[in-house]
Amino acid sequence: MKLPTAGKPHDELLAEMRALQDGDADWHSGKIWSLVYFAGDDVAEVLKEAYTTFLYTNGLSVAAFRSLQKLESEVIAMTAELLGGSEAVGNMTSGGTESILMAIKTARDMARARRPDLSEPEMVLPVTAHPAFEKGAHYFSVKPVHIPVDEEFRADVEAARAAITDNTVLIVGSAPCYPYGTVDPIPELAALARERGIGCHVDACVGGFLLPFLRRLGYEVPPWDFGVPGVTSISADLHKYGYAARGSSTVMYRSKEVRRHQFFSYADWPGGLYGSPTMAGSRPGGAIAAAWAVMNYLGEEGYLRLARTVMDTAQKLKDGINAIPGLQVMGKPDASIFSFASDSVDIYAVADAMDSRGWHLDRQQMPPKLHLVVTPAHKEIAGQFLADLEDSTQSAATEGPTPGDRAAMYGMLGSLPDRGAVEKVIQDFLDRATEPKEDPMAGLPGGGGRGSEAS
Ligand SMILES: *Cc1c(COP(=O)(O)O)cnc(C)c1O
Repeated sequence: MKLPTAGKPHDELLAEMRALQDGDADWHSGKIWSLVYFAGDDVAEVLKEAYTTFLYTNGLSVAAFRSLQKLESEVIAMTAELLGGSEAVGNMTSGGTESILMAIKTARDMARARRPDLSEPEMVLPVTAHPAFEKGAHYFSVKPVHIPVDEEFRADVEAARAAITDNTVLIVGSAPCYPYGTVDPIPELAALARERGIGCHVDACVGGFLLPFLRRLGYEVPPWDFGVPGVTSISADLHKYGYAARGSSTVMYRSKEVRRHQFFSYADWPGGLYGSPTMAGSRPGGAIAAAWAVMNYLGEEGYLRLARTVMDTAQKLKDGINAIPGLQVMGKPDASIFSFASDSVDIYAVADAMDSRGWHLDRQQMPPKLHLVVTPAHKEIAGQFLADLEDSTQSAATEGPTPGDRAAMYGMLGSLPDRGAVEKVIQDFLDRATEPKEDPMAGLPGGGGRGSEAS
């Protein structure tokens, strides 16, 4: 494959690209349960126009693009208020992962500023924390120290206390965690951090633009934001329940003093003085503009309306799942993200049966379970989902896993004791993912061949 010698016409290209999308997950009608947060065609139009209006702008220079300075600083100010910290400061990033990477680097450098001798920094995190923390640990040479969760799938505070050493620079909690949708005991974790003068990061990537509205609607939400003493940073993704365009998140800090440790500056480059707040150099102005647009388009009323829809739909789904013989929702999810398992059927065989009905469900492991992130797109389709789920559970119970389907593979990969071997499988998948003619699922052990992504 090489660059075409002659360019192709606009219309022909777009037709070719649209045809490719026929094979994608059907997010518009809500048949996918992660990856896309669709709030309706009207919101989509606002995002598209805002994004394309700022398509060529670059958030690297607020001197050249004063417009972006205004938009980003207002997004940050509105976010700070939502997160209970009117004094809080922050930056927009490309996503939850970048926000988390920045929070880890900031906590490490804040600790080093006080203790220049600190050579082997550590962070304490629940096993349910997002893999972006492992990535950050790997990139920034901070040792991850894992703590278990309790029977409600919330971080074990006593284990956190015991895991802290003189080298600990950061304690992590989630609001909520992705696998179970439960909020960790943030006041207790933050108090431990405060006693020692170290960072406490709350990962509200998925909850940051949902939980504040749940509280206003009267739902009971455990304390998790800057109102909790000792919380030093929070990540909150605009491109999840903020309903912004993909490629936008926020990383927020209690004070400017904390955030100083995030910045990068270099004064000796022949190309000029260089400063950049986050990982990225050039930054898409479109993502900043779209975030500002959707926040102002929806307003508090719009977010409250969507939050109510999402919570009503989640309740209907949880009740419906618990009513299907053999299926149980796990723990006590605090919002609209949850997982369910089975004590009688192979839950991965249920997922395969759902695949063949056009659904796209995340398979989770340890223990095997399926996962739902409920969005406004699911309101109309929840009834059909439950009917299909009941059928799929029955067929999995009577027929068991279909040979060549994904169930056997996920079962095997989830329980293989040699996790290094499983990581190699993942890396082989990543290799295949950039080869144009390959089906990345095809080379997986135990069959595969359907779908296009390792969830
Ligand atoms: C989505 C998510 C992340 C990572 O965000 P990306 O935008 O995918 O990089 C981190 N933590 C939690 C709890 C999440 O739900």
